[in-house]
Amino acid sequence: MKVPILDLKPACDELRAELDAAYKRVIDSGWLLLGRELEAFESEYAASVGAAHCVGVANGLEAMQLVLMALGVGPGDEVIVPSHGYIATWLAVTHTGARPVPCEPDPRTYNLDPDRLAACLSPRTRAILPIHLYGQPADMKAINAFAAQHNLFVLEDAAQSHGARCHGKAAGALGNAAGVSFYPSKNLGALADAGAVTTSDAALADKIRHLRNYGSKVRYQNEYQGMNSRLSELQAAFLRAKLPRLNEWNARRVALADRYLGRLRGVGDIVLPWFPGWATPVWHLFVVRTSRREELQRYLAAREVGTQVHYPVPPHLSKAYSGAGWKRGDFPLAERLADEVLSLPIGPHVTPEQVDFVCEHVRGFFGAA
Ligand SMILES: *Cc1c(COP(=O)(O)O)cnc(C)c1O
Repeated sequence: MKVPILDLKPACDELRAELDAAYKRVIDSGWLLLGRELEAFESEYAASVGAAHCVGVANGLEAMQLVLMALGVGPGDEVIVPSHGYIATWLAVTHTGARPVPCEPDPRTYNLDPDRLAACLSPRTRAILPIHLYGQPADMKAINAFAAQHNLFVLEDAAQSHGARCHGKAAGALGNAAGVSFYPSKNLGALADAGAVTTSDAALADKIRHLRNYGSKVRYQNEYQGMNSRLSELQAAFLRAKLPRLNEWNARRVALADRYLGRLRGVGDIVLPWFPGWATPVWHLFVVRTSRREELQRYLAAREVGTQVHYPVPPHLSKAYSGAGWKRGDFPLAERLADEVLSLPIGPHVTPEQVDFVCEHVRGFFGAA
């Protein structure tokens, strides 16, 4: 048996007929950008999230960047970001000229720790940008309460959390706005780069509709200095084909996660994912921790079990930010997670037998077989 960390082919195979029909609809229409498919997807996705508006854009990074641009966040401003997460969240901030202020994670959930927000606050703080990391919602109740107290905007990074819920409410409708990615490997993925902003703020949605298209909604009338960040008709049509499967595919991930949790409890020094009772995770990734990460990864690779590290370099230690003044030791929780996390294969087309195979080898590695 082989268990790749990621294989998108079975998803394409399962949806072949719907994807073919979506492609045909767009080709037959001859309309390729800013048309009916996008409008339909935007309203269908907004409805699925429970947000009033969805604005399709080119990718998740630009979705977040466009929201910050729309708010006028720029040089001299600060945005609180998770110290543990993907660098794209930080890039959305630094591309505007603002400074990311890293906040360390809750050591149990790996998501931004609301109790540490106060230490990150300054008179220049404009927004908080929590990630729902690995598909588990951040503690939005506490984050929103802190934001309300200090008049801050809350922008969710919902790139890994399509369908995840916090106190029953969907990611993407938990803050003031959310940036979503439909990168092919996400829980809801297009067949190329794609993204969206969801929000219930009509004025903000309208501004982002301008900003994604050179600052213009009416041709040659440019109200803002916008970007070119559009979601194509073809990708919108593919996403419409996939959206109706999201809940079912997420449920398959949940079943596999339960299987892992049952079979890996108490094995070696493995730390399993943990989530609070109010959280409904969608398991974008199944991430364990171990002090023997490299060894375990090599052992599994030799047995044809693919794994990956999300993420090996915390953004503050990335070369991209070498000029920004951060150094090793600044964010010890993020640094430790970067050294210990390991993602095991999970996805709607991973089988229970494959999970059993992975678990058998993880147990074998720790001598627990
Ligand atoms: C994928 C991802 C992004 C970036 O999305 P793109 O569509 O690739 O630009 C941002 N944040 C997180 C947490 C992600 O997983």
